[in-house]
Amino acid sequence: MADRYLSFTATAPGRFLTRRLGLPQPAVLRRWSPAQSSLPGGLLHLTAGTSRLDLAAVLARTGPEAAASDPAAVVLDATGVRDVDTLAEVHALLHPVVRSVAESGRVVLLGAPLDPDDHHQAAVQQALEGFTRSLGKEIGRGRTVNLVRLTDAAAAESTLRFLLSPKSAYVSGQVIGVGAGPAGDRADPDRPLAGRTALVTGGARGIGEAVARTLARDGARVVVLDVPQAEADARGVAERLGGGALALSLDITAADAGERIAAELPDGLDVLVHNAGITRDRRLVNMPAERWSAVLDVNLASVLRTTDALLAKGALRPGGRIVATASIAGLAGNAGQTNYGASKAGVAGLVRALAPRALAEHGVTVNAVAPGFIETRMTAAVPLFIREAGRRMNSLAQGGLPVDVAETTAWLARPDSGAVNGQVVRVCGQSLLGA
Ligand code: NAD
Repeated sequence: MADRYLSFTATAPGRFLTRRLGLPQPAVLRRWSPAQSSLPGGLLHLTAGTSRLDLAAVLARTGPEAAASDPAAVVLDATGVRDVDTLAEVHALLHPVVRSVAESGRVVLLGAPLDPDDHHQAAVQQALEGFTRSLGKEIGRGRTVNLVRLTDAAAAESTLRFLLSPKSAYVSGQVIGVGAGPAGDRADPDRPLAGRTALVTGGARGIGEAVARTLARDGARVVVLDVPQAEADARGVAERLGGGALALSLDITAADAGERIAAELPDGLDVLVHNAGITRDRRLVNMPAERWSAVLDVNLASVLRTTDALLAKGALRPGGRIVATASIAGLAGNAGQTNYGASKAGVAGLVRALAPRALAEHGVTVNAVAPGFIETRMTAAVPLFIREAGRRMNSLAQGGLPVDVAETTAWLARPDSGAVNGQVVRVCGQSLLGA
């Protein structure tokens, strides 16, 4: 379902009229394409307090060229902020430059992990979150603001590469934790997933199809798994992807789904994307047990079952990546979705608990994407007024596209994203829900 309001405000008369009426002014986001693979300008690197990060070399490899003025990206290293005085440097450094950041530009703050033995440091490092989320809400013009907590710049290279590119167009107001590393194998910038096999559940359409397409663009051989009823669509997707892609007809709720996947891929796999999901909305008072169990089974139980089976069989190769799909409905709650909200919050719980163990025992990272309002068949079925509210109630004043979730998944799937583990990253344009 096209966002006609966004198309209207992109015209001169539409912009004039909606401005006069005080209506939202969504910017047309600059998303990645082969012809538009970088941000529209240079990078300004600022430092508040005394930093111990070795950042310059990483930024030189990752980001846009350095720019002294009118940047498209600002990286503010605030890892050295330890007290209220050094926190004031964040204001002093950004206050004069924010206005000049290009449309669809990026502000990325870097913070340190909170020090439990130093409540002054913990207070001002936590303050960076409130700062980031507030600036995200006011900056406008398609610009995003995110905070990365890190201790080692090299371990965060793939994350900075993602945030400082058009691929993160719909990710704003997020706090992403990056561990000390190791980051994993160095990746070919153009085809980071070359030589890797990726399986996407629910890959026949919607977000799953976009994930399959994006992972194939990045060089992966993709297995498109979907229910037998969607076999023709799954085959069509696999044929269009090429690169040895294949379709796998399987209901992911089957008790032996993990074993069947392992049997289908005897050489194992590197990337497992749990994307299949369903909704069966009703308020709890009207919800029969079948609606509850159908949603919990597809969205959570099958994710737990197949993950356990594939890890136990060693089917995920070392350096493997699991990316599950949560939802902001699971983080914020949504009337009529006790089943769906429970299932998606469960995914976040699974990710946080399993991540350290899966990395230690199998060399596999486990993360989740949590989409907000994304333009798909699922959201096209939402009644008009609720749909319109869902689209506008975020800092970018528009819905995301399946490719926004796919790009986030592709970043988490990269071989050099090994220091990103146990994260639940919202792809929601900084939705007001559960922010
Ligand atoms: P969609 O309904 O368009 O596609 C879901 C796909 O999963 C379909 O191809 C379907 O056949 C498949 N599927 C369903 N049950 C399955 C099963 N038992 N086994 C195998 N495949 C199965 O949905 P979408 O909008 O693309 O959503 C994809 C994921 O993103 C879901 O997990 C959804 O909950 C989540 N999500 C979507 C949004 C949104 O705004 N669209 C928001 C938050 C989260």
